[in-house]
Amino acid sequence: MKKLLQDIILERPLLGDGAMGTQLMLAGLEQGNCGEAWNLTHPERVLAIQRRYVDAGSDCLITNTFGGSRIMLTRHSEANHVVEVNRAGVDIARQAFGDKTGYVLGDIGPFGGLLKPFGEFTEDQVRSAFEEQAGALVDAGADAIIIETQTSLEELLIGIQAAQAAGAKCIIGSMAYDVTLDGSTFRTMMGIEPERAAEFMEEHGAHIVALNCGTGMEMERARDAVERYKKVTSLPVMVQPNAGRPQLINMKVVYDETPEQMVKGLLPLLESGASIIGSCCGSTPDHIRAFRKVMDEFLDAKGITRNGDQREN
Ligand SMILES: [Zn+2]
Repeated sequence: MKKLLQDIILERPLLGDGAMGTQLMLAGLEQGNCGEAWNLTHPERVLAIQRRYVDAGSDCLITNTFGGSRIMLTRHSEANHVVEVNRAGVDIARQAFGDKTGYVLGDIGPFGGLLKPFGEFTEDQVRSAFEEQAGALVDAGADAIIIETQTSLEELLIGIQAAQAAGAKCIIGSMAYDVTLDGSTFRTMMGIEPERAAEFMEEHGAHIVALNCGTGMEMERARDAVERYKKVTSLPVMVQPNAGRPQLINMKVVYDETPEQMVKGLLPLLESGASIIGSCCGSTPDHIRAFRKVMDEFLDAKGITRNGDQREN
């Protein structure tokens, strides 16, 4: 039987995938259009992107459902398709693995607004949207739910509880940190420090603490975050840094870290004990391929095979 995600990463680190949003743009999605609807209208294009990540060596794929909650889909007049979009997202990722064993992480991104009293959304609205999305992802067979790019503990908690209500076997909470102006530290837009986030996630039953995206959170900062997480929690850690910073070149947003530059930060991340390493905005299958090579060398040096068995001496 396939091991639970939180169990297999105790044996060996796993490789995540790279960006979906920037890859959808390359495949023809226009800025501001609904990428998640492509799970229904252009499934072959989403599948092609995820197959490239599997071919590059990803052990985990994140579903194309970042904006797949009812609140987000309503903004694109897609509210009638919430369950279908999320279900198709899981099916496509599973299909991309083909006959390989891989882990499908059902993605829940931010609902894209603020909770009352700062914004117009009630906790109940967000809760019911996340419960509906988590339910669809779990029912479709996602191996885990990742609540990602989170900046507030209130929204994160609603996501964790929605995943629990849906019966998710593994729950990952992933925060987006920004490096402060003076460069001395990082916290989320809502002022949450990594130690607080990790303690909060552990207290509320998440299985894996993570970080993704953010501003200025490159590989080296991600390693700092792993170390800060590990000081306060024994839960495994997942990281998905961006491929550097966005630059506007010929009216197109391009991220400035090449696979060769980004992969330099991988070994320190592995040595700091990160259990799942992928990458976020701007990264490509080439970034993941470069990661795979270094991760395999790391596993070899430790005498761990890709299927997780300790090699006999
Ligand atoms: Zn990102």
